[in-house]
Amino acid sequence: MQDSPDSDGYRPGHSAKFVAILILTIVVGMVFAGGPDRFLSFTIVLMVGTLISTLLHELGHLVAGWIVGWRLVVINVMGLSLHWWNMRFHLDKPDIAADAGGWVVMIPDSAAALTPFRHLVMVAGGPLVSLAQTVVGISLAILAYKGPFFGPFALDVVGLGLAFFGLITFLGTAIPSKRAESNDASTILRDFAMWRSGERFDPAAWLALLLQYNVRLRELPEWLIADAINYHAESDYADRYFRSLEIGIALDAKQVDANRALGLIEEYEQLFGIDDWLACCRAYCEAAHLHDLTAARRSMEKAGFPSSLPQMDYAARAAIAMLEGDRGNAMELLKLMDAEIAAKSPFRDMTFRDIRKQITALQKIGT
Ligand SMILES: [Zn+2]
Repeated sequence: MQDSPDSDGYRPGHSAKFVAILILTIVVGMVFAGGPDRFLSFTIVLMVGTLISTLLHELGHLVAGWIVGWRLVVINVMGLSLHWWNMRFHLDKPDIAADAGGWVVMIPDSAAALTPFRHLVMVAGGPLVSLAQTVVGISLAILAYKGPFFGPFALDVVGLGLAFFGLITFLGTAIPSKRAESNDASTILRDFAMWRSGERFDPAAWLALLLQYNVRLRELPEWLIADAINYHAESDYADRYFRSLEIGIALDAKQVDANRALGLIEEYEQLFGIDDWLACCRAYCEAAHLHDLTAARRSMEKAGFPSSLPQMDYAARAAIAMLEGDRGNAMELLKLMDAEIAAKSPFRDMTFRDIRKQITALQKIGT
């Protein structure tokens, strides 16, 4: 099971990095008498070495994942993420970026692909590419040193640099680590053990992963939901969870069928009683989609304080304020909603982006 992205174990402290670079400087300085061009190449290699190695490593995961039928959600290289699913870029805060080499989040694209073995292949792709980078780098250095390539671009320096950073990345990810919460090697070992024992992945964990990365509810793969429901068919708690998911998906539809959504909420309430977050969803639906101020106010009375789902609470109150004609208050509430979402995840929440649009478009109705 996996509830965190494949983060790579290569996260040496600043001192370790400094020592490594110092050693490299001395070795290269001793082996190759420099000229200005060599020194320039050397500096460039040092500057971009980690970046290129990390990028290649993550691309290794990506390509291996694609080969076994997995789908990219997010790829992060040194603080810059591409949320492939939502098609958005995102920059980490500097303190997080400095700590993270890179990571990818992928999920299987079909029920058949959701196996520990395929996950193992995806995870192994990264270290394999780092190893290949090392071999290519050494070959390049040898070729450059011996032959016609030895020239003004100091290809031997570039080759050695590639090899050095490739090797660091390979060693950092291909040796099982107890210190890192997950690294490639320990993940591979765990996947292998699961594969040998015939154990299955819990599909719900992959649903949770998608939600964690703000993949919107209506885009959750249907096969994955069906698989997860099937897997947890015996559990009452899961039944409750999947029913709440269904309500969320209904409210996140492109064209919201408000009556259907309210019907699902009604059904849930009859089974499990009224939940605080459910009251907010109902109030939001009544206000934003049905423009029924009276009903929305009544539903909101059942919402608890502080709310268990603050962003939805703010959304419902903002929609009500809009219908009341209190635009100023509504915009304040939307600001609180945005702050709540921003604190939850660095990635843009497309559902609440649309909720905001829906609310700001509301007009005052007669009360
Ligand atoms: Zn990796």
